Amino acid sequence: MTTEAKTRRQLLDENSVLKGRIQELEMIDQVRNEEIQIMVKAAFHDAITGLPNKDLFYDHLCQAQALAKRNQSLTAVVFFTLDRLKLINDSLGHAAGDLLLKQVAGRLKAALRESDILARPGRDEFIILLPQVNSLLDATLVAERIFTSLQTSFTIDNHELVITGNIGISLSPNYTVTADVLIKNAYNAMQRAKEAGPNQYRTYRALDIEADFDSLLMENSLRLALQKNEFYLHYQPQVNLLEGRVVGIESLLRWQHPKLGSIAPTDFIPIIERIGLIEPLSEWVLREACTQNKRLQQSGHPPLKVAVNLSSSQLHQPHFLQTVTKILKETGLDGRFLEIEITESALAKNITETATTLAALANIGVHIAIDDFGTGYSSLAYLSNFKIDNLKIDKSFVDSITSNTSNASISRAIIALAHSLGLRVIAEGVETREQLSFLHSLSCDDVQGYLLSYPLAFADLEQFIAANTRANGIFSGSIKGYDGNILWPASPAPEAFGH
Ligand code: C2E
Ligand code: MG
Ligand code: MG
Repeated sequence: MTTEAKTRRQLLDENSVLKGRIQELEMIDQVRNEEIQIMVKAAFHDAITGLPNKDLFYDHLCQAQALAKRNQSLTAVVFFTLDRLKLINDSLGHAAGDLLLKQVAGRLKAALRESDILARPGRDEFIILLPQVNSLLDATLVAERIFTSLQTSFTIDNHELVITGNIGISLSPNYTVTADVLIKNAYNAMQRAKEAGPNQYRTYRALDIEADFDSLLMENSLRLALQKNEFYLHYQPQVNLLEGRVVGIESLLRWQHPKLGSIAPTDFIPIIERIGLIEPLSEWVLREACTQNKRLQQSGHPPLKVAVNLSSSQLHQPHFLQTVTKILKETGLDGRFLEIEITESALAKNITETATTLAALANIGVHIAIDDFGTGYSSLAYLSNFKIDNLKIDKSFVDSITSNTSNASISRAIIALAHSLGLRVIAEGVETREQLSFLHSLSCDDVQGYLLSYPLAFADLEQFIAANTRANGIFSGSIKGYDGNILWPASPAPEAFGH
């Protein structure tokens, strides 16, 4: 072998040794990368559910906040806690608890959009980032979807478990709310929801925002809101249970805050009352509801009754009756097509005056409904003493009408009592077909709730009514899909709030 040939062979050998070494190093590198990835995943993900943990969530939230600030958009945080996880861990073992957490994570994920971030900070808690929402009310729809997703029971180790929870929601407006504050606010709202009972959500209220930011600012915004046309009404159809026919609409007030988006009435009416603006606002609501109801009739829709909610102080205002009469005259709406909703507590004040006002309203054809019936001072005496047409069974009874025997009995008794006094009964907050069937079996007259329709903007309401009116124009039509005592949801996709 020549020196030259030896050198080539040596070179080839060395080359293959080097190649082997490089492959070895590459493998070591790959294993290391995988180890690093596993470590990173472990550091930023929850071991049980595989969801992002608190730190990763915080990171996502900070990024979403920065983006929201640039786009002048809104970010919401939804804090969800599961009830009785400890009990399940203690009685069925930790493996069962872990399985439940995994299944709950799956249901939550399915109730969210692709772009939403679901994380598990630990224990019985989940936290959700909604990076782009139009308003606080948008986020409440997510809460509703989550509760709906939990309605079907979970099967863990052959045990069928019904799981409840609570939700707190907070929203970052355009101005300075840090990620920490947003999480804290959602957590505090969740604590308030817990106080209200299982499957309740609470939003970090405008009232809280008012306290945290500048109460004067909020009041000023509200003072200007009427002038700036920031109030608007949504309408929720009321449906006759026997025929599936739309018989009325309830007007529900919303405030389009320039920065916070659409705000629910329960969040700002207490402030409006405190600052003494309830009278002009109520007058605006009454006029708007009557005007729009008249408009419905003028555009050829069959006449419907519009229900208007009244603050408890309103009924006792000295000029209330004159205001109603004046508005009916101005708008040309017949009194028969107006219903005033009052609460039991409003009736309990100034009994003689109340009786006179209600009788005078009845004289001009206006109907009276008792709202949230069963939750206030239920003195049954006023049912016969006052001129009342309608009882609205509160949502809290309807919610558990199929699962809680006492609530079912209370509802049955309310309906029987109302019928024996010649009153109609409407059930509020009907969300499931089971509730609907049950109410049908109790001979409840009318129903209202998300199952039939969400509260709708006026244009959507027109469409809803048109879609549910027979083609020949005679309003004998039923809600689409009405079949015996079963109604299918006929409303447009969950809207509705905030648009
Ligand atoms: P309410 O009169 O008892 O109205 C029913 C509430 O339940 C409405 O909430 C409605 O959107 C909601 N709702 C209807 N169906 C369902 C359902 O299936 N599931 C659930 N979870 N909720 C349902 P909203 O619009 O937030 O109004 C809350 C309350 O604010 C009303 O309770 C009423 O007391 C008051 N309010 C609304 N508009 C006015 C108004 O113009 N003036 C006054 N003074 N109060 C108003
Ligand atoms: Mg009402
Ligand atoms: Mg009510």
